[in-house]
Amino acid sequence: MNKFSETLYDAWEQQLRIDELLYDSETEHQRLIIFRNATFGRVMALDGIVQTTERDEFIYHEMLAHVPILAHGNARQVLIIGGGDGGMLREVCRHRNVAEITQVEIDPRVVDMCRQYLPNHSAGAFDDGRLELVFADGLDYVRTTESRFDVIISDSTDPIGPGESLFSADFYAGCRRCLNPGGALVTQNGVVFIQMDEVVATARHLKRIFDDWHFYSAAVPTYVGGIMAFGWASDNADLRRQPLEVLTQRFAAAAINTRYYTPEVHQAAFALPRYMLAAINAPEE
Ligand code: SAM
Repeated sequence: MNKFSETLYDAWEQQLRIDELLYDSETEHQRLIIFRNATFGRVMALDGIVQTTERDEFIYHEMLAHVPILAHGNARQVLIIGGGDGGMLREVCRHRNVAEITQVEIDPRVVDMCRQYLPNHSAGAFDDGRLELVFADGLDYVRTTESRFDVIISDSTDPIGPGESLFSADFYAGCRRCLNPGGALVTQNGVVFIQMDEVVATARHLKRIFDDWHFYSAAVPTYVGGIMAFGWASDNADLRRQPLEVLTQRFAAAAINTRYYTPEVHQAAFALPRYMLAAINAPEE
């Protein structure tokens, strides 16, 4: 029986049995594979790195979508960078008050193949009338767009290949440029215990570019190695400190059924372990 071995790390790996291979090809930008695994359901990987699985995607997509939108309280324009599988878009679309959603994805083949082989991820969201789907590099987009956003979600791959530019100072500065006052940027920032260098690099960029920055976290089983870090940046320091009663009221008004997100989990997610706080606040050499 074939096995998929994740190639993110040299010294160790995770393997998933390929119970049924659904798609495997080089796109213009990356190697795309989609297969079925008895434990995680359908799995999509890019350049040998697990991106998303049917079984645990709800954790990641709920936390990266609902935390910034409910913290903001009146997000009307939302930008998704990446997110080709459509799970993030599905969760953003559940907020009826969001008026316009722009998604900037570099690889049309990821969208096409995920619509076909991972239909539960987008669940029709790509047909939502509020969506403008742009096939472009996210860095180029945030550098040049005339559009402005209340929430920007960087749902990127790891900083390898096409995703590398989405972890650069230029990208974060571009996001700052197209955020409305009081807006928030959130980012997929890797498994902190293993990818601490990426988290620290992002912290140093955000510190320079934004008035307020931090991280929050959630554990996503197939992002192996412990809690995943989500970058947070805004010009409004109060946004990530919303009182529980405010989050509770907004969540109730949104009338969204979730499987992971709760207002209590939202608040607790911003409490970081000491080793992570020490690393992100350490003075630069
Ligand atoms: N949830 C996943 C994770 O945390 O690893 C990532 C989700 S999604 C599959 C990542 C998306 O980012 C992919 O569809 C990939 O094509 C897209 N992407 C990578 N580099 C990009 C870039 N520079 N601009 C826009 N999209 C990019």
